Amino acid sequence: MAGNLLEKIVSLCKRRGFVFPNSEIYGGVRGIYDFGPVGVEMVNNLKKLWWREMVQKRENVVGIDGAIITHPRVWEASGHVKNFTDPLVECQKCHKRFRQDEVKGKKCPVCGGSLSEPKKFNILVEAKLGVLEEEKQTYYLRGEACQTIYLDYENVLRSTRQKIPFGIAQIGKAFRNEITPKNFLFRQREFEQWDMQFFTSPKEMEKWFAYWKKERFLWYQKLLNHKKNIRFREHGPEELAHYAKKAVDIEYKTPFAGWKEWEGIHWRGDWDLSRHGQYSKHDFTYTDPKTGEKFIPQIVETSGGVDRTFLFLLLDAYEEEEREGQKRTILHLHPQLAPFKAAVFPLLANKKELRDKAREVFSLLSPLFMVDWDDNGNIGKRYRRQDEIGTPWCLTIDFKTLKDDTITVRDRDTMQQKRIKIEKLKTFFKENLT
Ligand code: ATP
Repeated sequence: MAGNLLEKIVSLCKRRGFVFPNSEIYGGVRGIYDFGPVGVEMVNNLKKLWWREMVQKRENVVGIDGAIITHPRVWEASGHVKNFTDPLVECQKCHKRFRQDEVKGKKCPVCGGSLSEPKKFNILVEAKLGVLEEEKQTYYLRGEACQTIYLDYENVLRSTRQKIPFGIAQIGKAFRNEITPKNFLFRQREFEQWDMQFFTSPKEMEKWFAYWKKERFLWYQKLLNHKKNIRFREHGPEELAHYAKKAVDIEYKTPFAGWKEWEGIHWRGDWDLSRHGQYSKHDFTYTDPKTGEKFIPQIVETSGGVDRTFLFLLLDAYEEEEREGQKRTILHLHPQLAPFKAAVFPLLANKKELRDKAREVFSLLSPLFMVDWDDNGNIGKRYRRQDEIGTPWCLTIDFKTLKDDTITVRDRDTMQQKRIKIEKLKTFFKENLT
C-alpha cells in the first residue's frame, strides 16, 4: 500500500471533500489547493489544538495575527530579496538551494543529490499596490510568517505585561514561488505556517532551545498512531546558518520521499532583531528590569507547516481493513482532530417518528461540536462513509429508541456497538473527547 498511499489520500481528499485542486475547471494552478467542507473542519481543529498547546495553556506566550503584506524593506533585512540576484543551484533531491559560489562540484553538500543548473530564483511572490499604473509599487506576499512577529515584537512587549523570556505565536499564510511544488500539500506555493518565536537573553538561549525541542516533538508524537514515524535530525555544520549554533528538524517518515521536514527548531540568536534594527535604524536593545543587563533579544524559533501536518496526519491515519469478508477504509484520526465527532442516522429516512427523534439528538449535540446528519442509503453504507472521513462515533436512532430513549453508539475503530440513553450522551462525549 505504501507506494501509492499518497495517491489514495489525494483521491479520498477529493471524493470526500477534504481538499480540492484550486481553480480545477480552468486546469488548476500548480501548488495551490482549497480545503473542502470536511477538510476545513479538520484544519480548524488542528489549529485550535496548536493554539491551545502554544498560547492558551502558557502564561509566557501570546498570539498575534499579522498581515500578509509588509513593507518591502522587511524582505531586504531578512535576506530574501538579496537571494533573488544571486544565481542559486537547487538540489533535485532535498530541494535545498545554495549560492553557486558556495558549492564545489555538482553534488549537494547536504544529501549528495544532483544539483540543477544555476538560476536566478525568485522565491518571494510579488504583489503590486497602488491605483494608478505608474504609481504601483512592488510589495511581497510574506515568504515566511515569522517576520511579522519580529515587526510586532516591541508593540507586543509594550501592550502586554510580558518580559523576556517570552514567546509570540502566530498561525498564518506564507507564499513561495517553489520551483518544484509537488507531493500534494507537502510542497505548495500558498501554505500556512504555525510559528512561535521565543525571545530570551543570550545566557538562557541553550536552555530554551532544549526546552522547545522537546516540547514540540512530544506534541507531534501525541497526534500520531505510528509513533515511530517521527524523529529529530540535527543540521550538520554545512547546513547551519552563520548565526545559528544549532538547528534541528522534526521529521516524518513519508511514504513518498522518506524522512522529510515537519517542523524546524531554530537557534536564530540576535540575527533577526539586529538585522531589522540595522535596516530600520531602530534600537532593539532590551534592558532586563531585574538585573539591568542590556542585550539584543535572542530567538528560539519553532516553525512548522499546518498543511504538511494535515497531510502527515492523514497518511498516518489511513487504513484499509478487511473483516469477515467486508472491506472498509478508515481514518484513525484523533477524535479531537476528526472533522465530525459524531454522525446521526435515523434508521429509516421515510419514518417521521425516527427522523424527529434523530433531529432531537442532532440539536442536542450540534451546539457542542460538529455533527453530521446522514439519512442516505443503508446503515452499512453510512458507516463506510463516516469511517472514511474519520468520524469516531455513529449514532443510530431506531424503533427501540422510540420506546426506551436509547440509541446505538458505534465505535469507528472497534466497530463495536452499545446502547446509551440519550440523556447520557453529553457525558459520553465529555469523557471521550478530552
Ligand atoms: P523545506 O526544506 O521542506 O523546503 P523549509 O526549510 O524551507 O522546508 P521553513 O522555511 O523552515 O521550511 O518553514 C517552516 C515549515 O513550513 C516547514 O517545516 C514546513 O512544515 C512548512 N513549509 C515550508 N515550505 C512549505 C511548502 N512549500 N508547502 C507546505 N509547507 C511548507
